Amino acid sequence: MRYSNFFIPSLKEDPKEAVLKSHKLLLRAGYVRQLSGGIYTYLPLGLKSLRKLEEIIRQEMNSAGAVELSMPFVQPLEIWKESGRDEDYGKELLRFKDRQDRDFCLAPTYEEVITDLVKKNVKSYKELPLTLYQIHLKFRDEMRPRFGLMRAKEFIMKDAYSFDADEKGLDESYKKMKHAYENIFKRLGFDFKFIKAEAGEIGGNYSEELMVFSEYGEDKIVICNNCGYAASIDEAESVSDYNDSLVESCRQPRMTKLSTPDKKSIEEVAEYLKIDKTCFAKTIIYESEIGFIAALVRGDREINERKLKKAVKIKNLFLAKEQDVEKITGAPCGFAGPFGLKKQNGSVEVTDNSNSNNSTNILIVIDEEIKNSEYWITGANEKDWHMANVKHGRDFNFDISADIRSVQSGDKCVKCQGILDVKNAIELGHIFKLGEKYSKTLNAKFLDEKGESKYFVMGCYGIGVGRTLQTLVEVLSDENGINLPVSVSPFALAVVNLNLNDAKITEIAEKIYADLTSMGADVLYDDRKLSAGIKLKDIDLIGIPFKIVVGNRTVKENKYELEIKKDSSKESFDTLDALYSRVKQLIF
Ligand SMILES: [Zn+2]
Repeated sequence: MRYSNFFIPSLKEDPKEAVLKSHKLLLRAGYVRQLSGGIYTYLPLGLKSLRKLEEIIRQEMNSAGAVELSMPFVQPLEIWKESGRDEDYGKELLRFKDRQDRDFCLAPTYEEVITDLVKKNVKSYKELPLTLYQIHLKFRDEMRPRFGLMRAKEFIMKDAYSFDADEKGLDESYKKMKHAYENIFKRLGFDFKFIKAEAGEIGGNYSEELMVFSEYGEDKIVICNNCGYAASIDEAESVSDYNDSLVESCRQPRMTKLSTPDKKSIEEVAEYLKIDKTCFAKTIIYESEIGFIAALVRGDREINERKLKKAVKIKNLFLAKEQDVEKITGAPCGFAGPFGLKKQNGSVEVTDNSNSNNSTNILIVIDEEIKNSEYWITGANEKDWHMANVKHGRDFNFDISADIRSVQSGDKCVKCQGILDVKNAIELGHIFKLGEKYSKTLNAKFLDEKGESKYFVMGCYGIGVGRTLQTLVEVLSDENGINLPVSVSPFALAVVNLNLNDAKITEIAEKIYADLTSMGADVLYDDRKLSAGIKLKDIDLIGIPFKIVVGNRTVKENKYELEIKKDSSKESFDTLDALYSRVKQLIF
């Protein structure tokens, strides 16, 4: 491909809307353009990479026995009402009407359509197992689309669906898909791990997420370097700490007030009193469908709101408004303690699983670590004061004690007492054992060996394809440019003609381009009438793995130079044949 004939609208400056390095680079290098929030055009470079990535996924899916098809992106809402997910998806499901006033939606996922398809076309156990997949568009009307292709509204996913006669069959299909995922992500060179996950809107009995470690990942994963334990921050457990030596000084017969003028945060108070943060209990006031909740964790900890919701068995949880905190504690935010809290009515709408008898109580939920030790320093429920020697059972009573804290790096593993590490990660795949969830609601059945009618046992398996492409850019790039592997890079090789006005240079460059192209190499030939500096910079930004520069030195010294982007190394060759055989070795 001649650069002059291609379409690579690169940008000189970092685009303002981008935060992540990968998002900036994809925009700057001319891989994608945003049309509207979370909606992107894949420019020719981006599309070339995307197609290569899709091909890797396709190869592994096919060799695992899955069969490709393509389902409609626009779907009748009726089928979503039938499965009951019309409501579950809420505003993320983009709905609209056609000219006959019929309701439709843009597909956020395809379980309904595939189940309907198989129900109507597969009648016997003899046709099972069956795994179907597609690489296709999805649309979720995200509240806050961000980070480019990482959290877009319209995105490309590979989604596969397995149909089996029983649970044993599902286990087998699930294993095959998981293995295919391992192959795909190994081929891409990722550092990844499967972790057990919550099923969310998709539902089912069991699911695992494929997480790729990256500094900028939105998800937090806890891993044990000793035994391999891995879980999401919302699921992960650590050994509860018991640091009585630190609270020994607090062991007093009654609560004692400590003056802390204008010191609100734990950091400020700990610094001011010269007492370690682990001696404090933080009291956070929340509002929920069952009224207000006071939650306590140790001063150096963060409350995990998902764990708190689970412990209290509630759906909604918000930080209480400042004026409510004042009414409940009698003090402005920053001075709350767990004792003497005044009862208040919550203003959150009561939903189905609420217990209305409770709605005038403040529920006190303490973390296990708060229960472990007896004496704590807390807010005094009075402006500019904290309270020492606060003891549960004496100065306040709690309703629930549970693990409601987020694991921190350095905590101990519950399985082996090893040291836990918290790492940022990006979810690139999610696999589910759905069981009969969809076949039951959509009444999808087949006849078994005895001629009895049974529900299909299903699994589903997704990979965010656009997100995977951006993650490769995120993980492998430097500030000067993208650095994709040959298997996914839009071009394997660049030939740069440094001076188009020089007939000899141009003759050699044209010959190399023609020879390599006829060898079957995917070459970008930079034949633009621009300065050498701009051209080399652009090729670096696009991130083509191998570069052959043809300039004065090529002609004078009769040497051909090959640059390898990955490690910035250079190799020199006396003949074109030697250059070509090295190129073959590198790219095929
Ligand atoms: Zn461990």
